[in-house]
Amino acid sequence: MNYDELDLGRKQRILIVEDVRLNAQILVNVLQDEYDLRVASNGLEALEMVKEQMPDLILLDIIMPEMDGYAVCAELQSDPKTRDIPILFLTALEGDQNEAYGLELGAMDYIRKPFSVPIVKTKIRNHLELKRYKDLLKRDSRIDGLTRVPNRRRFDEAFAEERMRAGRSNTPLSVLMIDLDLFKAYNDTYGHLQGDDTLKLVAKTLHNTLQRPGDLLARWGGEEFVALLPDTDCSGALQVGENLRTAVIDLQIPHEASTVAEIVTISVGAASATPGNADSYDSLLQRADEAVYRAKDLGRNQVIASDEYC
Ligand code: GH3
Ligand code: MG
Ligand code: MG
Ligand code: MG
Repeated sequence: MNYDELDLGRKQRILIVEDVRLNAQILVNVLQDEYDLRVASNGLEALEMVKEQMPDLILLDIIMPEMDGYAVCAELQSDPKTRDIPILFLTALEGDQNEAYGLELGAMDYIRKPFSVPIVKTKIRNHLELKRYKDLLKRDSRIDGLTRVPNRRRFDEAFAEERMRAGRSNTPLSVLMIDLDLFKAYNDTYGHLQGDDTLKLVAKTLHNTLQRPGDLLARWGGEEFVALLPDTDCSGALQVGENLRTAVIDLQIPHEASTVAEIVTISVGAASATPGNADSYDSLLQRADEAVYRAKDLGRNQVIASDEYC
């Protein structure tokens, strides 16, 4: 997973959906310098392309064979993943009723054919600016301010998604709870500001140590982090937990008040859910949390698996 998730510096992507080649070509000519363009010539193709690569805005013709623009719009609006993509209808249809209908379906705006180039360009620019701003807000509301890794809110979303996916695809799902050892004593010794710096460094290290694209490291709160490991069983989770524990040790951050080691260490609790035990998904977080407590009881600086299921 990308550290900041959205690359907001890139050229914005526009999907043009238009069955009349000439109309599509006019739009391409006008927009290609500023934007990253793709063109679909019918509704089904458009939906496929959206799945492949999320556009920032869609210019959507209404009258097309097979699946018209209204149907495409309704479909995109019904899926939470695509609901926020702004849609501008391209229409030769006259009349307020058509326009009202499209707006009710969730479109942002209308562009009338034949196009006025300055109007098309300005409308697109305005809607894309708004989209970028919304993306920024969305990203910032899901990133922890101190450590810049995903926050609890982002974790909750990802957890819900991965849980569903695991159920559908019959794959295991694992969670690691990670707690810095004796961190109160660290703050007392080195001060809160240095404590913050150490939290940042540990967060970055944990994040960088996770290797699969679907893995997610989030700040759970305070000096606690959580790792979500899709398609990973218990032994895999223990291995990843061990990698995290070692990565933090390798940082060799002095912690003279620690009774465990002379450096900063973490305790990790691992829990897994398996397709064979449907209810094991409900208790994942709680079991990982209990496992951390046991790691603490057993002396800290270790990775402990949950008793049940793993
Ligand atoms: P244990 O090994 O049992 O986990 O001991 P601990 O001291 O880490 O656990 P405890 O829950 O007693 O204390 C957690 C400490 O983490 C308390 C708090 O000062 C520190 N902490 C939590 N959030 C932050 C933060 O954002 N910045 C800094 N500097 N410290 C934090
Ligand atoms: Mg058409
Ligand atoms: Mg704690
Ligand atoms: Mg702690």
